[in-house]
Parts: sequence; C-alpha cells; structure tokens
Amino acid sequence: MSRFKVYSDASGTVNSTLISIGDQAVIVVDTQASEEGGRLVLNQVEGQLLFVFNTHEHHDHIGGNPLFDCRIISSTAAQEAMVADNVSAGLPNCHFDEQLHMHTGGEEIRLQHFGGHCPGASVMYLPQRRLLLTGDLIFNGRAPWMGQADFPTWIAALAELSTWDVETVVPGHGPVGGKELLREQQTMLQNFVADVQGWQHAAKTEAEMIALAAERYGVKPNWYDMLRMAFKCVPRPLQVKVMPSLSKHRRG
Ligand SMILES: [Zn+2]
Repeated sequence: MSRFKVYSDASGTVNSTLISIGDQAVIVVDTQASEEGGRLVLNQVEGQLLFVFNTHEHHDHIGGNPLFDCRIISSTAAQEAMVADNVSAGLPNCHFDEQLHMHTGGEEIRLQHFGGHCPGASVMYLPQRRLLLTGDLIFNGRAPWMGQADFPTWIAALAELSTWDVETVVPGHGPVGGKELLREQQTMLQNFVADVQGWQHAAKTEAEMIALAAERYGVKPNWYDMLRMAFKCVPRPLQVKVMPSLSKHRRG
C-alpha cells in the first residue's frame, strides 16, 4: 500500500507529499515555497482534503499554506516560530507539543516532534504502510541546511527513527528512498561535527573551513552563509576536567 505522491514545483527542490487516505480523502504534507507552488499542489488534490501538515516552520515548506482552507497542523514549536517570524496568513490552526496520533480511514497516523534541523522539526509516520516523512531531518543527495542546527538533537532523532519499523522514507528535499537514508544522514552530520571540531582545534580560518566543507560535503557557494551559521552551531568537544574542590575526597 503506497498510495502517496511526492510533488515539487518547477524549482524541484522542496517535497510536498499527497497521501491518499481511504477512497476519497487526501492529506497534504508541506505546501512549497510560494502560493504559486502551493496552487500546483492544491490542483493535485482529488477528493476531500483532510488536513495539511507542516513538517517545520521554514518558509520553503509553508509558502502555499494560505491557499489551503482546512486544518493546518504543525508542532507547537513550529507554530511559535512562524508567529515569531511574522507569518500572518496560513498559520497552523492546530498544533501539538510532542506527539499526535490520529485514526482516520482505517489508518493510524502519528506526528512526532523532534527539533534538530530547526526548533519545530517533526515527522509523520504511517505505521501500517511503514512510511516515514522526515521533513528536513533528511536531505537526500545534497548537503542539508544546517544554519539552525541543534546537532546532538538532530543526530539523536535520526538514531531514534532508525529503530522504527520503516520501509519508505520521504525526505524534505531530494528523492524518496529506503531506511538507509536515516543512517546516511546521521553519519554525514556526525562527520560534519567531527570535521568542524577538528578544523577549529587546528585553528583553521573561517574561509579555510568553508573551502574544506564545500569540497567534502558538496556545498554550493550560495550556501556558504549557511555554513558560517552551521559552524557556530557545532558544539565544542567534551572537555574532561578534574574539579579541584572534589580532589580532597580522593583516597590516598
Ligand atoms: Zn528546513
């Protein structure tokens, strides 16, 4: 049972997914970067539109929201980020803190908040279909946008998702794949963090780090600003210190 269709506008970069539920109902996941893009997605909807789910607050996933006259669901963190970002039209009108389980058309639908890619990042999981829509927790075939990354949270989210019973993964950007996408993205993020920590330890300049990261992770010049932001998101390596105040409790 794989009744879903992934769709993106002419720029071909952001995934919107239409999921058929029962015979005549559809869920839309993410609405493209603009109202024009959203219109193209809306035109694909046949039958009853059950709701829109925004995987997170980034503009390229919510631009078509104002066209959708239905319930729009997101995590609370995503909704709050949109409000803080002065998004006025098409705000989610239903939101959940951690998770939301729905039963409709004989199917279970689970929404789970993780954060990591950005504060509101969440996923949709349909266990009967073993189908997982990760939003931007996964970019397939290109470097992810890491400008707001909480790397430990993001890596932990992918590790958790790898334990779920999943066959098909729809990323936020790039082609649909299998469960291997989870491990691949987790490994890439772990490598990026380790690389940046190493470069910082070696006192590389920002320009040197950009050149190294661009080469290793295939980042295009128009995303160098993203890299500058991502470097600041990389946690410092764990420093192990002996607290002097505790030394008097040592034996011997
Ligand atoms: Zn994003």
